[in-house]
Amino acid sequence: MSLLIHNARIVDPVLKLDGQGALLVVDGHVAAIGDGAASDPRAQGAERLDACGALLMPGLIDLHVHFREPGQTAKESIATGSRAAVAGGFTAVCAMANTKPVNDSVAVTELTLSRARAANLCRYFPLATVTKGMEGEELSDFGTLMGAGCVAFSDDGRPIMNAAIMRRALKYTSWLDVPIVAHEEDLNLVGKGCMNEGEVSARLGCLGIPSAAEEVMVARDIMLAEYTGGHLHLAHLSTKGSLRLVREAKKNGIRVTCEVAPHHFALTDKELMRFDADYKMNPPLRSQADLDAVMEALADGTVDAIATDHAPHTWDDKECELQLAAFGIIGLETALPLTLELLVNRKVISLTRAIELLSSGPARVFRLDRKGLGSLAVGNPADFTLVDLDVRITIDRAFIQSKSFNTPFKDWTLPGKVLGTWVEGRRVWGV
Ligand SMILES: [Zn+2]
Repeated sequence: MSLLIHNARIVDPVLKLDGQGALLVVDGHVAAIGDGAASDPRAQGAERLDACGALLMPGLIDLHVHFREPGQTAKESIATGSRAAVAGGFTAVCAMANTKPVNDSVAVTELTLSRARAANLCRYFPLATVTKGMEGEELSDFGTLMGAGCVAFSDDGRPIMNAAIMRRALKYTSWLDVPIVAHEEDLNLVGKGCMNEGEVSARLGCLGIPSAAEEVMVARDIMLAEYTGGHLHLAHLSTKGSLRLVREAKKNGIRVTCEVAPHHFALTDKELMRFDADYKMNPPLRSQADLDAVMEALADGTVDAIATDHAPHTWDDKECELQLAAFGIIGLETALPLTLELLVNRKVISLTRAIELLSSGPARVFRLDRKGLGSLAVGNPADFTLVDLDVRITIDRAFIQSKSFNTPFKDWTLPGKVLGTWVEGRRVWGV
C-alpha cells in the first residue's frame, strides 16, 4: 500500500518547505517528502500520481463547524458536512456542541463519532459544552467527555455571561490542558441587534450590535485566563478592539489563542444594504476599519487560525425579513479560495502563512499536532490536499456539496480548485 505523488509544489510551514518535490506515502503515513522522495527505494512499485505542478499541502483543519447532527439534519448532517469538508480541502473538522440535544454527554459524543465513522471521509473531532445543557450554570463533566474523544469545550452560539462559571471552567481545564472556546458577546449589549452597530445600521434603521459587545467579553475572559492559567481560545473575532486585546495579551504571556472567519476579511456591513440574510451572521459583518484590523492581525501573527464557522441553514431559515432570519453562513468550500484570493493574491500574507493559518495553526490550538496532524513530517498520517492554484472556480449550487446553500459568495469566481483530498493516505475527494 504505497503512493507516490510527484511533480508537486510542496508547501509545509512546519517543515519550512516550499519547493518542487514528491510525497511518498506508505501504509497511510508519510514515508518521505521533498527532493529525494521520488528516488526513495520504497517508491518502487508504488502507485504514482503526477501532480503536474499543483500545490500539495498538509490537509486543512477547521476548528469551528456546525454539522447540525443530532437534531437538525434538514440543514446538514455529519455525512453531508464531511463531504463539504473534503471538497473544500479539509481533512479534519472540529464540530461545535450546540446540536439538539447539545453535546454535554458521552452518549451524544459517541453518536456523532459513530456517524462520522460511517461517513468515512474527514477526521471528526467533537467539542462538548462548557455547561450542562448549555445553560451557563453547571459545568459539564470535562474529564469524562475528554475520555470519550472531545478535544475542547464550548457553549458556542451562547456566551457564558456568568464570569464565575467562566473562571471555574478555565481553572478546571488548565489541569486537563484543553482550551475553553469562547463565543464572545455580552447579551445585554447585543439586545435585539441583528447587524453591526454603526453608520449602516443607522441608515437602514436596523438595531445594531456594538463592537463593544464582543470586546468587553474578550477583555473579561483574557483577565480570567491570566488569573486561572487556563487556555482561552477566542472564536470568530470580528473587531479591531478584540484583536488589539489579544495582541496585548499574547505579549504578556497569557494563554490566549484566536481564530477569524473568512467572511470577516471578505465583507463589511455595507453588504446589509441588500437586505439579504445571507449577509447575516454572528458576530456580524463589521466596518472597513475592523476588516483592516483582521487583515493586520492575520499578517502579524496575532491570529492563530482561520476557521469557517460553517453554519448551514435551510432556505426557510434565511428567506424572511432580516430581523427574523437565522444567523450564519456555510464556509467549508469557500474558505481556501477566499484566503487565496483576498489574502495571498493581494499580498496581505504569504502562501506559507495562509497554509499555516489553515493547517498547523489550528492543529496547535486544539493539540491535534500531538496526533501528527497539521504537518507532513515523516511518520505523520498522510493527510494532505492537492490544489490547482491556476484554475478558478465559481461558487454555485453545483459546486457546493453542503446540504445548505446559505452563502453570500454566490457566483463569486475564485482561485484554487481542490483536485484531491487524502486522509491517512486514502483519497476521499477527487478522481
Ligand atoms: Zn459562535
